[in-house]
Amino acid sequence: MRTSPTTPEVRQNRLVAALRSDDLQRWLPYLERVNLPLGKVLSEEGAITHYVYFPITAIVAKLHVMENGSSAEIAVVGCEGVVGLSLVMGGASGATRAMVLCAGSALRMPSDFFRTEVGHLRILHLMLPYIHALISQMSHTAACNRHHVLDQQLCRWLLLSMDRTQGNCLVMTQELMATMLGVRREGVTEAAMKLQKAGLIRYARGLIEIVDRPGLERRACECYGAVRKAYDQLRPADEQHTFNHRHAVAASPRSHLVPTSLRAPPLPPMMECHTDLLGIELAQLAGARAANGRAGLKGG
Ligand SMILES: [Zn+2]
Repeated sequence: MRTSPTTPEVRQNRLVAALRSDDLQRWLPYLERVNLPLGKVLSEEGAITHYVYFPITAIVAKLHVMENGSSAEIAVVGCEGVVGLSLVMGGASGATRAMVLCAGSALRMPSDFFRTEVGHLRILHLMLPYIHALISQMSHTAACNRHHVLDQQLCRWLLLSMDRTQGNCLVMTQELMATMLGVRREGVTEAAMKLQKAGLIRYARGLIEIVDRPGLERRACECYGAVRKAYDQLRPADEQHTFNHRHAVAASPRSHLVPTSLRAPPLPPMMECHTDLLGIELAQLAGARAANGRAGLKGG
């Protein structure tokens, strides 16, 4: 049965919240609230995309999968964005695999309707700043994976993921982390141990908790700060994140270009760790492993 989203839910995705009221009224009949379980594959490279997804509390990873089944994450998408941008670029199929990294809710829309909508210049212009930030994230991820050590990559990945959650915890297996970073599981284990010994994270029973975020930011490479800056430019200057170290972000020189409607409320403040908050149960991990196996992902 179709679950219609409420107005507050709709506004939790920043792109949808940025719509003009008449555009939003046109979209509402086509938006459906769905719950996305950990590990669910929303689209595959080269496959016809039937829906686009605007995450609310869910986080979706975009993965590039090689012929031998190994893969690496190239970007994460949360409530600031949309999954299915190939349609904006004129493609009918996905350019990457999109897989749910953190269980939660999203708004779903039929691809055909979205394709028609991005034909309107106003809607297209709403998407362009987000596309720019996403390209920045993909570029930095590619360079980071080649030039920075694994524990720095892990810091970047944890911070980018945490920026898109409502808490300071992620339900995550080491196999899934290895898949995301495109490395062997043993490497991720070693990197996570280093961060735990440094008092930056706690990792137990498939749950990662960030206990020292400023420390994690200091430990991360330049890539996290650069990507964060690209996304901060989607916000007005007074809502932008202030880094505690060399990644200090200046007020965006382009903030005056951001439509007023894009100036959605900031992400909720960090909250205590509750797996219930994320709509996740540890038991789902078994399902995620099975889903990964079906999807042919590298197990690490
Ligand atoms: Zn890096």
